[in-house]
Amino acid sequence: MLLGIITVFLLCSTTTVLAQEPAASKIKAVATFSILADMVKNVGGDRVEMTVLVGPNGDPHTFEPAPQDNIALLQAQVIFENGLHFDPWLDKLVQASGAKARRVAASEGVELIRNGDETDPHIWQDVSNAMVMVEHVREGLTAVDSAHADYYREHAETYLAELAGLDHWIIDTLKDIPDQSRQLVTSHDTFGYFAKRYGFKVIGAVIGSATTEAADPSAAQIAGLIEKIKSTGVKTLFVENTYNPKILQAIAAEAGVKVAPELYTDALGGAGSDGETYVEMMEHNAKILAGSLK
Ligand SMILES: [Zn+2]
Repeated sequence: MLLGIITVFLLCSTTTVLAQEPAASKIKAVATFSILADMVKNVGGDRVEMTVLVGPNGDPHTFEPAPQDNIALLQAQVIFENGLHFDPWLDKLVQASGAKARRVAASEGVELIRNGDETDPHIWQDVSNAMVMVEHVREGLTAVDSAHADYYREHAETYLAELAGLDHWIIDTLKDIPDQSRQLVTSHDTFGYFAKRYGFKVIGAVIGSATTEAADPSAAQIAGLIEKIKSTGVKTLFVENTYNPKILQAIAAEAGVKVAPELYTDALGGAGSDGETYVEMMEHNAKILAGSLK
C-alpha cells in the first residue's frame, strides 16, 4: 500500500517536471514600457516570457509600481529600460526587489536632443533610433541566452528590415505636408526626435517639458502658448494617448484651432486599437499628421 502511494507520488512529480520544462527554458524578461516590450517580443519571439511594467496607454513618467512588479523583477534574467530619466523609478524598484538581472539601457549610443538642462528621452519617435534600441535588445537577450544567439540575430534582422521600410514609408507619407504646416503642438514635449528626423518644428506643448511629471501650466503659460499658436499660424493641435486631453482641448477652443485625433506617444494603444505594436503606432501617427496638416 505504502509502496503504491510512493509510486503514484513519484509518477505525479515526474509528470509535473516534464510538463513545466518548456516554459522554464524560456528567458524571463522585463521591459519598463510597452513600446520597448514590443521590440523585445519581436527579437525574442517565443524564446522570451515578457513582463511589461507600464502597459498600453500608461504614462511611464508618472508610473506607480505595484507589488507584483517586484516579483517580475526578482524572477527576471534581463531587464530592458529606456534610460534618460524616462523610467527613473526603476532603480528604486530593482533595489527594493533584490533583482539581480542584467540591465540593458536601450538608449545607449543614440544621438541625444537636449533642451536646456533636460535630455529628451523620447528617442523611439525617430525610427532610426528604434533600430539602435533593437540592437541593444538583441545584445541583451544574447548575453543571457548565448545558446540561441542565431535565433535572436535572425529575428532582429527581420525586424530591422521592417523598421527600415517603416522609416521610408513615414517619410513618403509625410512628403506632401507643406513647409508652413510642419508645426507641432502637443500635450507634452514628446516629438523632438520625430521633428528632427521627419522635418517638423515643435512650436510648443501644454506642459513645456519632456516629462509629464512637471506641474500643470500656469494661466500665464497657457496665454503664452495661445499667443504662439496664433502668431505661428498653427491650425491643429495634437492630443496624446498617455495624457489627459482637457487642457489642450480648452487651449484649442480659445485659440480657434482644431484638435486632431489622438496620437500614440509614450505608450502603445490597447488591444484592438491601431497602435498595438510600435510599427502600427508609428503608421497611425504619420497618417493622422498627413491628414491633419494639409
Ligand atoms: Zn513623455
